[in-house]
This record gives sequence, C-alpha cells and structure tokens, in this order.
Amino acid sequence: MKSPFSEITPSLAWARKRKFAFPAGGRTFISVVIVVALAFPFTHTTHAQVQRSRRQGAHSKPVNEVLSLANRNLVEHAITATCMQRVQDPFGSLPIDEMQARPSMPLGHPDAAAGARRAQRLLPEARKLVATALIQLAHEYRIHESQRDKLRIQTAIARVHRVTRVKPDMAARDNASVFLRDPRTIHFGTIFLAGLRSDEAMISVLAHELTHIADGQSDTLHQLFRVVGRRAAGRTGLRVEGQRAEELACDLVGAQAVQAFVQNTPSWEPLGRRLARALEHNCVVEDEGDEEHLSPRNTIRALFTLDLSFASQLLSDAQ
Ligand SMILES: [Zn+2]
Repeated sequence: MKSPFSEITPSLAWARKRKFAFPAGGRTFISVVIVVALAFPFTHTTHAQVQRSRRQGAHSKPVNEVLSLANRNLVEHAITATCMQRVQDPFGSLPIDEMQARPSMPLGHPDAAAGARRAQRLLPEARKLVATALIQLAHEYRIHESQRDKLRIQTAIARVHRVTRVKPDMAARDNASVFLRDPRTIHFGTIFLAGLRSDEAMISVLAHELTHIADGQSDTLHQLFRVVGRRAAGRTGLRVEGQRAEELACDLVGAQAVQAFVQNTPSWEPLGRRLARALEHNCVVEDEGDEEHLSPRNTIRALFTLDLSFASQLLSDAQ
C-alpha cells in the first residue's frame, strides 16, 4: 500500500524503510489518530504522528561525548571509501535518490524477481543476525541489567523469529516497510529489490525492517533507540531523537548484521567492498533528511560514529 503522502510530498518518497502501523486502542492520543486516519487511511504518517506525540516528553539530554579529531577524520574517510566502493563494485547498490527517479518496475521484471528471491533466501539468516545484534547492542548500551530489560529483548527477538515472508510490491517502489498488523511480512518495493544487488545490502535492509518488527506495537525497544540516539547526537551534534533515533538504531542493527554476515561467510571479494554494501544505498547526491530520518549521508556518518571499528575495518581494507 502506497502512502498518499509520497505523492503529495515527493521529497518524502526517499524515506523508505519505515514502520507502518495502525493505532492500538486505548492510547491517549486516539482522537488525534482518528482525525489523521480519516484523512489518510492506511498511511504510516498516522504512525509517525503517534510516535511523536508519544515521545515528545522523553527528550534525552545530549551527552557530551565529542569525538576526537582523529576519529572524525576516520569517519569522513570511511564515508568517502564507502561511496567509492559503490561506484567500483559491479554489485554496488543504487543510491536511493537514483532509485526514486526510476519508473515503477513490474513484479515480473527479472531484476525485481531476482531481488525478491534474494530477500526471501536471506530472511532466515537475517533473523538470526538481528537476534544476535540486539543482544550485543543491549550489552554495549547497558540495557540488559535488570530482568525486565532482558525480557524486553527476548520479546523483541521472538517477534523477529516469526517473520516468514517478503512480499514484493510494485507500488511501494523504492520503499520497504512493515505493517504491524501483519508482523510476519516485510513489504518490499520492486525498485528497491532490484537496486540492492548484493547479499550484504539485502541483509542490511532486511535487518532494518526486522528491527521495526522487533519493536512492535508496544515500543519494546524504545530504550535502545533512545540511548543509540543520544550517543549519536552527542558525537555528531545532529538532532537524533524520536523516530529519527528509531530509524538510526534500525540501521545500526543492519550494519552489525552485515559485519557478522561478512565474518560468517568467507569470500574472495575484498572485505572493505563487502562491508561498504551495508551502507551504499545512502550514497546520494540529493542529501535530504526529514523529521523522521537523518539525511542519507548523515545516516552513514552517524553509523560510523557509533561504530568506529566498522569505519576502521572498512577503511583499512579499502586502502
Ligand atoms: Zn525504518
């Protein structure tokens, strides 16, 4: 289902990979939701407003954790290396602004069909990688200390393991999304399926969507999203809260999943090239963000900032 918003506001169309959801009953913002839902049935915008209204009170204090000049340089070099790799790699991803400019692609198009097969084949592996990444991040961000914290992560992982299907969708174009009323399916636009030409790129996007599903209707991973957002904001000076923090954390899980995937599946291909594929779809020329997403290039920047070893690994090999 395509959001009418993406037609009304084309600048939002790049912002793929969202969590679509329908409001659950019994929440305090239900009247707001009804108004929005009547105006724009079946849109994720409804959900986005839900998220905002829910999280406005939870602004986190910026953490003053400034990066050293050496690490800032490392991050900038890693961004350049990622996007250089994209150009040189025969299996490099299309940037999302280029995907957006393409005409719609029918389900039967060979590239879309190949992408759909790739996504479905990699889904079981992506589920395992996301489960592991969530546990690792819970340790790294110290949100595993109480029984309640552990239970949250377990609940999130159980949701991930229930996802069984990738559904190609021509109208979704360059987007992938999950509808929380159908938490077993990832909806994937055909242009996006065709534009991700490597297993690594596909794992990255599958992991992103699986993390939205892991969060579920009850915002189970809210705590993780918030601490990831705080750290990213502290280190980059960017505003990373609310839905932006969730989107970035989903990408961080994707980046971790790809690193583990690359380690687990030896190949003759250079390590740096394979790692770069996790992020290459963000190598845009038109670098615009919105309320809910950092711009694509700032997304790469924030991810390397959060995971400096990813940056140095990619860079050492790329050089
Ligand atoms: Zn998303």
